[in-house]
Amino acid sequence: MEQDLKRKTVATVLAEGTDAVGKKVDVKGWVRTRRGNKNVQFVALNDGSTINNLQIVFDLSKFSDDQLKPITTGSSIHVQGELVASQGQGQSVEVQAEELEIYGTAPSDYPLQKKGHTLEFLREKAHLRPRTNTFGAVLRIRHALAYAIHKFFNDKGFVYFHTPLITASDCEGAGAQFQVTTLPLNNLPTDKDGNVDYSEDFFGKLASLTVSGQLEGELGATALGLIYTFGPTFRAENSNTPRHLSEFWMVEPEMAFYEIADNMDLAEEFIKYCISYALENCKDDIQFLNDHFDKELIDRLNFVINNDFVRLPYTEGVKILEESGKKFEFPVYWGVDLASEHERYLVEEHFKKPVILTDYPKEIKAFYMKLNDDGKTVRAMDVLFPKIGEIIGGSQREESYEKLSKRIEELGLTGMDWYMDTRKYGTVPHSGFGLGFERLVLFVTGMQNIRDVIPFPRYPKNCEY
Ligand code: ATP
Ligand code: MN
Repeated sequence: MEQDLKRKTVATVLAEGTDAVGKKVDVKGWVRTRRGNKNVQFVALNDGSTINNLQIVFDLSKFSDDQLKPITTGSSIHVQGELVASQGQGQSVEVQAEELEIYGTAPSDYPLQKKGHTLEFLREKAHLRPRTNTFGAVLRIRHALAYAIHKFFNDKGFVYFHTPLITASDCEGAGAQFQVTTLPLNNLPTDKDGNVDYSEDFFGKLASLTVSGQLEGELGATALGLIYTFGPTFRAENSNTPRHLSEFWMVEPEMAFYEIADNMDLAEEFIKYCISYALENCKDDIQFLNDHFDKELIDRLNFVINNDFVRLPYTEGVKILEESGKKFEFPVYWGVDLASEHERYLVEEHFKKPVILTDYPKEIKAFYMKLNDDGKTVRAMDVLFPKIGEIIGGSQREESYEKLSKRIEELGLTGMDWYMDTRKYGTVPHSGFGLGFERLVLFVTGMQNIRDVIPFPRYPKNCEY
């Protein structure tokens, strides 16, 4: 091996393309396939930097059969050689191998031998599936979207505000919480009434994993003006659906002085920005997913960024559903919490566009949402997407100390003094929303199941690795 030749990623080599023909290159990666005849062998090398493989050509007058034998699917190698224009189809350049180093072999029980494993099979092998084309593409897109989110908010002057993952506040009501404890579960300390004595627990009180950073986010927004959170969220709901995880990532911007219309404008601009960013920066990966899984993917992404979202009050949405004549599994009437089938009917069949549904009945929404003058509905907004259903849930927050205290009392919530201080001291109109990051990744990748857009999915009865 030539010592001072610097390694290049496959992405770099392919991007330089024919401009670098004649130069010597140094590449490292994993073997996807090896094929050929007794004169020449072709290896498809992938290093994760791109969905595309680099073809390495081994001339059998320079390499012996024995030298090449360990190069099987899944093995890892280091190659130096001259970059040449490719004779074959499917690539413009290839490497004529001169030096070979084998880092690691992959015995024949390597699970990813052949192409075209089902997604279900790969879910069982989630520790290795990032090595497949499909998951490589999904995970690079996931990364690009995470970066786009930070860039979008940073460029608008938002502060990335870190809310706690372990929390003692259980008032969000967004979902069941996982408890965090160091108490001995088979010998729990009890108080004189026989209840668990949490004063003996690690934090001296009942603590849980967060279901949302919003309430703490409001503390940030009422100090810094514009903030967003982007972190893991945990919900112990027994939802075995293709759209729910027990551990997922959520993006929650919170904006002082924003009313509901500003909130909707921001949500629409934000989501379009993220999708455009992925379309521009993940072309090969999105094209691959479009070709192999979902022929309408790219059209759907372009459609969403090129059309205005419909904005519609819940009451009108329910009317449309009632008059649709459609047989739904769950009944629909004013006051009902819409099911995914209802949301998708509005988006996919009626409007054929993303819909922002607003002004929901207060009974089915969280306590902190701003009450409308009708006394019945609150300034909520859910962004509903084709194939996904709800992708964003948000609202204008109730800024009146009196109205909010009354609502908290009605619902019997306690321990909210710290939160009420935002309304007690210098209260302002403010709004925010939560985007389920994996639902965005689902939409942009066209994958069907949320368990396939996060490296290590957690769901009921499943916690591997
Ligand atoms: P859903 O009705 O779909 O369960 P939700 O009303 O519980 O959603 P919110 O509490 O408003 O959702 O949370 C904000 C966003 O977080 C949702 O719009 C969705 O994108 C995402 N989300 C909620 N629950 C989950 C989950 N279990 N797994 C993945 N994403 C989720
Ligand atoms: Mn939910």
